[in-house]
Order: sequence, then C-alpha cells, then structure tokens
Amino acid sequence: MKIVVCAARSVAEPCAQALRAALPEAQVRLRVGPGPVADAGLSAQTVRQPASPPADYALLWKPPAALFEEEPALKAVFVLGAGVDALLALPSLPPALPVIRLEDAGMAGPMADYVLAAVMRVHRRFDRFAAHQRAQRWHEEPVRPKAQFQVGVLGLGAIGGEVARVLAAQGYAVRGYARTPHTVPGVQSFAGPGAFDGFLHGLDVLVNVLPLTPETFGILNRATLARLAHGAHLINVGRGAHLVEADLLALLDAGKLAGATLDVFATEPLPPNHPFWARSEIVLTPHVSAVTEIVPAVEQIARKIVALENGAAVGGLVDRARGY
Ligand code: NDP
Repeated sequence: MKIVVCAARSVAEPCAQALRAALPEAQVRLRVGPGPVADAGLSAQTVRQPASPPADYALLWKPPAALFEEEPALKAVFVLGAGVDALLALPSLPPALPVIRLEDAGMAGPMADYVLAAVMRVHRRFDRFAAHQRAQRWHEEPVRPKAQFQVGVLGLGAIGGEVARVLAAQGYAVRGYARTPHTVPGVQSFAGPGAFDGFLHGLDVLVNVLPLTPETFGILNRATLARLAHGAHLINVGRGAHLVEADLLALLDAGKLAGATLDVFATEPLPPNHPFWARSEIVLTPHVSAVTEIVPAVEQIARKIVALENGAAVGGLVDRARGY
C-alpha cells in the first residue's frame, strides 16, 4: 500500500514517522510545499516522479491544487484536521473521491478546556475586573449562580458535543444546537432551523463549534447575535467566515455584546491594521484552541486505512453535499 503525506514539512515529517510506525508495511512518501510555485524549488523526491507508483491514500493539510493530478489513483484522502472547508473549496478535488476528517483525535479535550476557561472568565467577571484594575478602581461585580448562566453551543459533533458536555458538567445551564437532535448529559438539545431562535434567545454566552459550510457561512451575524442576552459574550472557535466581523464591532459599540473571545478569523494571520487588535473587549488567540496532535491523529487514520482495505465502513466520511 502506498501513502502520500502532503503538508508543510514540519507537519509532514512527523506524520510520516507516525504512519510508518502504525503501518510498517506501507510505503510512505512525502509531498511537501504549499503549492505549485513553491514546488519548483523543492528537491526531486518531494513531488511524485512519473516512474514512482501513484499513492492509494493521502494524508493532507492545505494541499496544492496540483496534487490530485499528480496522484490519479487515490482511493480516499484523510484531512489532518476536523474542518474540511478549505479542501472542499479546491476545484481540482475529484468529486467522487472520499474525504475523511479527523474525529476528535485528541482535539475535543483541549477545545473544551479553552471554551471552559473563556466561559469562566466571563462568568466570574475577570474582563470587568481587568477594566477596574486599569482604572485603579476597587469595585465588586455581582456573580450569578452557574445554573442560571445560559451558555449555548452551536454544533454538537465530535468536538462541540464534548464542549457542551464539559460545560454542563461544570454546572452551567447549557443548550446545544445541531441539524439533528442530540442527547448530551445535562444539555438541552435544539435541532434544525425552526429551533434556532429559541436556542439563541437570552443566552449569556454563545459558543460556535460549527463546521464552515454554505449553510453556516456568516451565521454569526447581527440578526443572530441580537437574540442573545443584553451584554452577552461570543466565543468563536469554528471558522472565521462564520462571523460577520463588522456586525460584531457594531454590536460591541452599541453595548449589546460585552465582549468576544475569538480564535479564528476571516483572514489569518489577522492583518496588522485589523480593528480587532485594539479592542479591549475582544480576547484573541492565533487559531490555537485545538491543534492537531500528530500521533493520535495518524493512529486514527491508520486504523481507518486498515478498515477501508478490509472493505469496512469508517467514521468521519464527509458528506460532500452537506459540506461536513
Ligand atoms: P463534526 O462534523 O463532528 O460536527 C459538526 C456539528 O455541526 C454537528 O453536530 C452538526 O449537526 C452541526 N452542524 C453542521 N451544519 C449545521 C447546520 N447547518 N445547522 C446546525 N448544525 C449544523 O465536527 P467537529 O465537532 O469535529 O468540528 C467542528 C468544527 O470545529 C470543524 O469543522 C472546524 O471548523 C472547527 N475546529 C476548529 C479548531 C480550531 O483550532 N479553532 C480545531 C478543530 C475544529 P449534526 O450532528 O446534526 O450533523
């Protein structure tokens, strides 16, 4: 079996090492470099030579469009992340090629930690205390019981489901929204567009863990965010394009929202002159809420390759029409 790993060298090399350990019989090849232009400067071994046999499977992160021409015999591709929006946007991706995403693979726990830390910071008024400290003001802030603090989680998949479960286990009043009903301990489930307004109504914190699809693009907009409680907080760990950035700024200016914790942005890295940098109500982090952990990710992929070779079904198969 032949497998190509296509990603930046810093990711591709440890992936290939983990893959060789998990599947010793496989021939593993690297294909590094961000795109066809950069390929010109790479050594010959990094791009498949016409004489070398094409790969059966590919492990990918931000592949160049040319990859799918170079590798005409792929049976499936595995994305080294949970989000597949960037890959599905590539016009060269063959329409019938199965795309398989990571399912948790070590990301759900760190993501839940990140969101819990942000929710607690908001609930315990640390943002307010920081403002008081800057003004040298000794001022108490009222704190509501956790059970009355309403947190909504958009997306109850492999990662969002764990985020909601952890928040509920901490005692927060948690609602979850997905396309289909979910059973998560302690979480009130809302499903489908008809339930969206009820889900949003009066939330103190809205957490976005949705995949980016044509249906969810721009879902964090003025109309959506206006349904939250006055002075609510937004946490976006999904994708930057979920958020209409100008709407967030307008709602912060109007005092409707008190703040936001943002890990993802429409343009990454966030450009130097972007207005978010200067907003004290926004806590921003550079897309680090849950990074792919190479060994568990590759071990999960290796198990799925073995299953596919044995004709078995695997989880994480992306529905190309749905977009996730
Ligand atoms: P899953 O595919 O497991 O879950 C997606 C969830 O979103 C499901 O509950 C699904 O509903 C729901 N959903 C999808 N479309 C809609 C819609 N139109 N309306 C309502 N609900 C919808 O994904 P993961 O939980 O593994 O990951 C979610 C996203 O998190 C990724 O796509 C990625 O964008 C982001 N992410 C960000 C990271 C970061 O570092 N910031 C790291 C990892 C992931 P249903 O269950 O009914 O199908």
